[in-house]
Amino acid sequence: MTNDDFVIHQIRDEILQRRRFLLTSHARPDGDSIGSQLAMAFALDALGKEVRIVNADAAPDHYQGFPGMHRIEITTEVDTDADAVIVMECSDLSRTGITGLDSRFIINIDHHAGNRLYGALNWYDETAAACGEMVFDLIRALGVPLTEQIATHIYLAILTDTGAFHHSNITPRTFDICRQTVEAGVNPAAMARRVFDSNSFGKLKLIGAVLDSMVLLDEGRLAVLYLDDEMLQLCGCTHNDTEGLINLPLTAREIQAVVFFKIAPGGVVRVSMRSKYDVDVRQVAAQYGGGGHKNAAGFTVDGPLDELRPRLIERLVMAIGEGLLTRP
Ligand code: AMP
Ligand code: MN
Repeated sequence: MTNDDFVIHQIRDEILQRRRFLLTSHARPDGDSIGSQLAMAFALDALGKEVRIVNADAAPDHYQGFPGMHRIEITTEVDTDADAVIVMECSDLSRTGITGLDSRFIINIDHHAGNRLYGALNWYDETAAACGEMVFDLIRALGVPLTEQIATHIYLAILTDTGAFHHSNITPRTFDICRQTVEAGVNPAAMARRVFDSNSFGKLKLIGAVLDSMVLLDEGRLAVLYLDDEMLQLCGCTHNDTEGLINLPLTAREIQAVVFFKIAPGGVVRVSMRSKYDVDVRQVAAQYGGGGHKNAAGFTVDGPLDELRPRLIERLVMAIGEGLLTRP
């Protein structure tokens, strides 16, 4: 039995013994956090458990039509006497953006490098392409049948967290799980259309504005994107509409990495980074107290941008140089 199998069995036993669950994930949820939480919620329903899902922020609009979305409560403070809190996709409990969780029995399920092991039970698998892959294994261990609803959320998690099957952490296991979700009724074409082709006209304008702001550095290997409230307002968009924008520059062959500066009200700068192949943006994010994965990482700073920008760009250019050395 591998270490992972051992922890999965421990988690299964604890879940089967307990009755009331609170599920959560990181603030500003993405497809993996939504998919992992709702797949888990439907599995716990099947076991006759009581389930509450709490997130700090609402999910972007294109996730709203997915099954069970109405079950997610939005709050940054909970008062709960749940028998267990299952935290998915969070390297640190503070990533939830929610207070009041730490006194409960915490089950930590995550695939981010550097997970802080804050749970009573910690299952952390950096090789998983999405947290949804881990949730899939757990649901199987719990003996819950793969319904179309559960399969939809597992596929959503994998589709989005692999950057639509672009990132380098995709394995045979990823496709094996996807195969099973398709057998359970998932329609991959419909899922791709729902997730990636549901832009508003405002979002199309925003794509134009953000690409217009793009600066190319390092002989075109690094793209720098910028977004502030004024640009959002001009396009009739909100911060909820920014998902996916960062991936656009990577469609240019020469571009190896992208950094996206999003200026939030109050001067807080949210920095997102993406890269190709072995260019490791996670280690760059880690130098600023952030995290993520080799090809998708981020961090937040209080600003100002002028101070941050030159050194960060230097570090990214170095990461590109190192990554290109190992290019197949
Ligand atoms: P994003 O660019 O916000 O889509 O995030 C890309 C990846 O980096 C995700 O796996 C996030 O969980 C991770 N990430 C983003 N911001 C932070 C942060 N402040 N701390 C730790 N991980 C982060
Ligand atoms: Mn994830």
